[in-house]
Amino acid sequence: MAHTDPDCLFCRIVSGEIPGAKVYENEHVFAFLDISPFAEGHVLVVPRNHSANILELSEADGAEVLAAIRRIGAALMKALGAEGFHVMQNNFPAAGQTVFHTHFHVIPRKAGDGFSFAPGKGYADADTMKRVAGAIAKAIGD
Ligand code: 5GP
Ligand code: ZN
Repeated sequence: MAHTDPDCLFCRIVSGEIPGAKVYENEHVFAFLDISPFAEGHVLVVPRNHSANILELSEADGAEVLAAIRRIGAALMKALGAEGFHVMQNNFPAAGQTVFHTHFHVIPRKAGDGFSFAPGKGYADADTMKRVAGAIAKAIGD
């Protein structure tokens, strides 16, 4: 039995208590259309086990989710004529997370569709890159 939270929106969609446009499910993973899509065919892929974000996601569930994302991405290309797709995942409100059950966005793309997450970005300077990479590497090692 999956570990679920009765107050969680996505747990309630996975259980069928709240309707969702299901595209895929297996023992570990459930996938359904986003109600407010970036593009037609924008899919949300979630583990059945409740976790608030990727830091709480088990490695086993992470592997299952990745396998499902690959199948769904291939299906978007086959079924919708997508020429590519994004995999996006937000953690904590500062990063735009609004539903606190770990989920991965799979967003179909076509060349020239005009979609963009960011209007444009510059280049970092070498000193800053060295300092930031060093701080992150140190934290991983801690
Ligand atoms: P986040 O911003 O947390 O990464 O993404 C949450 C996503 O869940 C949003 O893209 C939003 O449109 C979607 N969403 C919110 N409520 C519902 C709902 O009731 N049903 C479905 N299918 N998607 C939802
Ligand atoms: Zn949940």
